[in-house]
This record gives sequence, C-alpha cells and structure tokens, in this order.
Amino acid sequence: MQSSDFSNSYDVIIIGAGAAGLMAAVECGKRGRRTLLLEHTTKIGEKIRISGGGRCNFTNIHTTPAQYLSDNPHFVRSALARYKPSDNISYHEKTLGQLFCDHSAQQIIQMFLDLAHQYHVEIKTQCTISELEKGADRKFYLKTSLGPFESQSLVIATGGLSIPQIGASDFGYKIAEQFNLNIIPPRPALVPLLLHEEELSALKGLSGLSAPAYVSFNKRVFLENILITHRGLSGPAILQISSYLEPESAPHTIQIDLLPYDNLEEFFKINRKSKKTPLSHLRTLLPNRLVDYFAERNSDLTRSITDLSNEALRKIVAQFKVFCLEIAGNEGYRKAEVTAGGLDTKELSSKTMEVIKVPGLYFIGEVVDVTGWLGGYNFQWAWASGFVAGQFA
Ligand SMILES: Cc1cc2nc3c(=O)[nH]c(=O)nc-3n(C[C@H](O)[C@H](O)[C@H](O)COP(=O)(O)OP(=O)(O)OC[C@H]3O[C@@H](n4cnc5c(N)ncnc54)[C@H](O)[C@@H]3O)c2cc1C
Repeated sequence: MQSSDFSNSYDVIIIGAGAAGLMAAVECGKRGRRTLLLEHTTKIGEKIRISGGGRCNFTNIHTTPAQYLSDNPHFVRSALARYKPSDNISYHEKTLGQLFCDHSAQQIIQMFLDLAHQYHVEIKTQCTISELEKGADRKFYLKTSLGPFESQSLVIATGGLSIPQIGASDFGYKIAEQFNLNIIPPRPALVPLLLHEEELSALKGLSGLSAPAYVSFNKRVFLENILITHRGLSGPAILQISSYLEPESAPHTIQIDLLPYDNLEEFFKINRKSKKTPLSHLRTLLPNRLVDYFAERNSDLTRSITDLSNEALRKIVAQFKVFCLEIAGNEGYRKAEVTAGGLDTKELSSKTMEVIKVPGLYFIGEVVDVTGWLGGYNFQWAWASGFVAGQFA
C-alpha cells in the first residue's frame, strides 16, 4: 500500500470532520503541520449543525471532570484544564451554564472553515477509507476512494455510533481492534427510555406531559424536566439518568420525585385538621392529568385530609415523591445523543491523546470512553481533546 508521491504525503491525517477533528486539524495547521482532514459524508460538522436546536450548545461554563462518565473518571482532567470553555464566537447563556450560539451553529462550522483555510488545512469529503496500516517506517498508509494517502501522525476522530443516519460509523472501534487496543463496550447514552407495556398503557393518557422532577438511580440525581412519551420517558432529566443505566446493572428501576419544590408532608402537617382534599392541593402544584392518574389509583386523594390516617397521608406523599418505574430498555443509537464507552482511556496518554503503544496514533472526541452530561459537556470534551491532540500530532 506504500506510496511516495509527495502530493499524497502529510504530516498529519485526521479522520472524521466533526467537532474534535475540526479542532485538531486547525491546531495542527497552526503549528505549520501539513494537515489533511478526511470525512466520509458530503458535509463537515453535521452534528454541530443539528445540535442545540440549530444553535449548538457548544460548551458549559461549569465544566469539571465531575460531569463526565468514563471507566477512568480522572482521564479528562488534563485536557479540560488546557482547553476551557472558549469565547471565540458570540454566544448567550441559557440555564445551568449552557452556552449557545447567538445566531446559528453554522457560525461555528464557518469559523473552522475559515481557520482551516487560513492555516492551509486540506479538507476532503466523500472519502471512504478501505484500508489503513502502519508501515515499518512508522508512517501511516491509507487506501481510500480518493486515492492513497500517507502521514506521520494519524488522528481518529470518527465519533460514536449515535445517529447513523448522518454519518456515524464504527470505524474508530475497528481501528482500535486492528491495533489490539481495548474497547469499553459502547452503549447508547443521553437516550430516551422505554417502559414495559403494562406501565405504558397505564400512562397512556399522560403522553406529551412535561414537568420538573428529581430523577434518581443508584445515588445519581438530576433535577430537570421529564417528558412522558408514547413509548416511555424522555426530557433532560431522563436523558441524563439514562447514561448511568449500564446493561450489567439491569433491571433498572428509576425513582422520580414529582414535587421537587414542594414539601407535601409539611403541608399535610399544617393542614392536619383541614376539610381540604389532597387532590385539590396537588392540582395547584401539578398538571391535572398527572394528579388524576394518581387519584384513579388511590381514592384517598379525594377524601378530606382530616379524615385520613397518618399512614394514608404517608402513602400519598410516597406516591408523588417516590414514584418508581421499571425501565424496559432505551430507544437505541437512532435517538441517543451520544455513545458511552469506546476506546479505553488506559490506552491513551491523557496529556497528548496519543496511543501509548502505537506512537503517532491519536484518538479524540466521542470515540474515546468519555461521555459528558447533557448541557454542552460533550462538545467541550470534543474541543478539549481535539485541541490537545492538535498540539502534539
Ligand atoms: C441531535 C444531537 C444533538 C446534540 N447536541 C449537543 C449539544 O447541544 N451539546 C453538546 O455538548 N453535545 C451535543 N451532542 C453531542 C455532540 O454532538 C457529540 O458529542 C460531538 O459531536 C462529538 O464530536 P466528535 O467530533 O467526537 O464526533 P462527531 O461530531 O460525531 O464527528 C465524527 C465525524 O466523523 C465522521 N466519520 C465517521 N466515520 C467515518 C469514516 N469511516 N470515515 C470518515 N469519516 C467518518 C462522521 O461523519 C462525522 O463527521 C448532540 C448530539 C446529537 C446527536
């Protein structure tokens, strides 16, 4: 496969023109490295374009290692410290420290295109890579639909398996296998959850309903909105907890506190002698449809508080504060915002993102076993790991 044609020879080849690949390419270009960025679809940065409702929630000002899942939770520390939430483009802050583009995610893509042009980074799209090998001369040789290419350094930035309809592939994992690198089994994360048929038909009338709630599983708790769908559960709090439902710990029962801001117990204590019903009070706190769902299952909700025993009141509190649902599965990669798992971080230097046993080979972004919470953390990882690799590749 070896070729010695200079026009096909680069210092660095980066595979995958997503967030991480674009950042690494520009950083390599800045260092004067002859850089080629290869993308197999027709477009670059497609996930940047569709994210955050078209405005890309590109980072979060509260980023720390605590918002990342990985077999090695400390791995992200170095890269995150070297590339902090940037102020390259004009943005606005939404809730929870999330930064969004003022106008459109296209601003970010255009910024990278301009920088790539400025630093002479070559970008080739619609490029299918059929073979890749490392020669005895330590160079990487690629056989592609656009001809052969070779480079001193090779950066894998092909992302995870989420949203295959816009270009996701298992290319990165295959390269990892080719070089005998360990992979933490990939799984959909930040993904809507499915409920069992019985639960689903009971909740049928609530489809489309959204409310703030604490959602918890295994000591993890998120306070954001939940959304009841015709297949199960979604909304930010559900997506967040979904990342923690590892297949090994199934079956999973999640706990939902539907009254995150209200102390129902205290209300009953103060109104212990009241003729009011729990139903009338709960209707001031929650959507009627939701309260009716519980009233259909517990007739005590329609009786006066004064007529109810302490045990009956405790039961009502538990219904709303400790609402438990068993999860049947998730909606899979077609709906998952990210892929958890990936290249085992033990294979990489956290300072450079270079594979320890394969000098010159780098892995960055979502293909690595690093998964952020919802809220800009995944792009922040893509930028930070791309930035770091861009200083060394
Ligand atoms: C709908 C949606 C909304 C999201 N919103 C947000 C958000 O608001 N904030 C946030 O932080 N995160 C968000 N994410 C997650 C975020 O988009 C990803 O974590 C991030 O894009 C990962 O960057 P990456 O460069 O590692 O991978 P990607 O962006 O997936 O880029 C990988 C690139 O590699 C290309 N590729 C794959 N296989 C090959 C191959 N064989 N040859 C050549 N090229 C290949 C792909 O086509 C793609 O261009 C969202 C994800 C989705 C799906």
